[in-house]
Amino acid sequence: MADCIFCMIANKEIPSKLVYEDDKIICFHDLEPQAPVHVLIVPKKHIASLDDVTAEDQELLGYIMIKVKDIAKQLELENGYRLVNNCGEDGFQTVKHIHFHLLGKRKMTWPPG
Ligand code: AMP
Ligand code: ZN
Repeated sequence: MADCIFCMIANKEIPSKLVYEDDKIICFHDLEPQAPVHVLIVPKKHIASLDDVTAEDQELLGYIMIKVKDIAKQLELENGYRLVNNCGEDGFQTVKHIHFHLLGKRKMTWPPG
């Protein structure tokens, strides 16, 4: 989708610090890390948010969930991690292309702010 920063990253129109890529997803380091390890797992398909997924996306979302542990292993998050999806205005979603934050290498707090 034109003017979508994560589509542009997926299409290599703008650079990113790549962690993992295949035909369905791309994973890169967040520009403003909130933890010592903070990467974004992003489907190459443009879906605006978790609120916009359809039954057609079931396999893709399942695929992402299964890949999380492989990416966590690659990043040596053996002590655990947090996976976050921000959705919509109250969820503080700033980039309107669905993505999952994978954070690790520090002890997280709960509840989130
Ligand atoms: P969210 O607030 O959940 O929509 O998260 C969007 C995230 O994308 C933020 O953590 C930003 O720091 C990050 N971000 C925005 N632009 C870029 C970029 N060009 N490369 C890497 N991360 C980015
Ligand atoms: Zn997009």
